[in-house]
Amino acid sequence: MSGPTRSRAGTTEQGSRRDRSRPPAPEPLPHPVVDNHCHLDIADGRGPDDWLDVDAALAAATAVGVPRIVQIGCDLPGARWAVETAASYDAIVAGVALHPNEAPLLAAEGRLEEALEEIERLAGAHDGVRAVGETGLDFFRTGPEGVDAQRESFARHIDIAKRLDKTLVIHDRDAHDAVLEVLDAEGAPDRWVMHCFSGDAAFARACLDRGAHLSFAGTVTFKNAADLREALVVAPQDRVLVETDAPYLTPMPYRGRPNASYLVPLTVRAMAEVRGDDLGELCAAVDASTERAFGGPWGTPSEA
Ligand SMILES: [Zn+2]
Repeated sequence: MSGPTRSRAGTTEQGSRRDRSRPPAPEPLPHPVVDNHCHLDIADGRGPDDWLDVDAALAAATAVGVPRIVQIGCDLPGARWAVETAASYDAIVAGVALHPNEAPLLAAEGRLEEALEEIERLAGAHDGVRAVGETGLDFFRTGPEGVDAQRESFARHIDIAKRLDKTLVIHDRDAHDAVLEVLDAEGAPDRWVMHCFSGDAAFARACLDRGAHLSFAGTVTFKNAADLREALVVAPQDRVLVETDAPYLTPMPYRGRPNASYLVPLTVRAMAEVRGDDLGELCAAVDASTERAFGGPWGTPSEA
C-alpha cells in the first residue's frame, strides 16, 4: 500500500544544503527489536526519494532485525492514516493523538473538543491501535499562551488512554516537571512510555517510580548527551525501549540525514555499549518490553 505521502518535514535553507542521501544499512541485530515510535507518513523533504513507502520501509527495517513498527499519528489526518496503515499491515500497530504543539492551534480555532472526540473514536477503531500518543507538553515550540490548551489536551488524552486501556505515549520537551504534575493530578495509566526520553538520571528515576517505560532515540548517540546516557544506565533493562521518531533524530554518524526504522541498530548498539549490556540480551529485553508496554504481541513475535 504505497499511499500518497501525507506531509513533509520542514526543509530549511540549510536543509537544502545538508546531505540528504539515505545512510547505508547497518549490520543486522542478533535479535529482533521494535521501532516503537515512527512517522512513516512524514517525508523528509520534497524530492521523490524523500519518502520511503511503507513496504520499502518495512522491508529495509526487517532486513536488519527491526520487523515491527509502532506508527504514530499526531494530528487528525496522521491519526486516520495510522489507523488505516495498522489495519493493512500485521507488523504495524498505531498510536493516535493530537501533538502538544497541535492542541493550542486547534483550541484557538475552537476545534479542540471535536478533534479530541475523533481521537477517541480512532483510538477505539481496532485492536491494532495500541496507543494514545504522542500527547504531552512542549514548552520549546509552544509559548506561554498555548500552555493551558496543552495541559487540557494532555489531561484529556490521559483520560482516553485509561478508559480505553491503551498505552499512553508522552512527548516532553523542556517540560519535565509539568509532565509529572499533570500525570500525578490525573493518575498515570497502567502502561505509559516516555517517547524520545530527554531527561537526566534523576528525572528517569522519577518516571520509573511512576511505572514508565523509557524510550531512547538517536539523540542518545549525540556528543552532547552525557546526561541522557546516565539516564539510560540507571534504567532497569526491562524498562528500556528504542525508537527512531523518523524521519527525525538520525543517530550518529548520520545525524542530519534522513532517518528510518532500518537505522535502529545504530542506536541499539550504542545503548548496549553505554550500558555495558550484551547486545543480543539487550535486544531480546527491548523486544519483550515493547510488547508488554504496547499491550501484548502483534505481527510475528520474535523467537525467544
Ligand atoms: Zn514523534
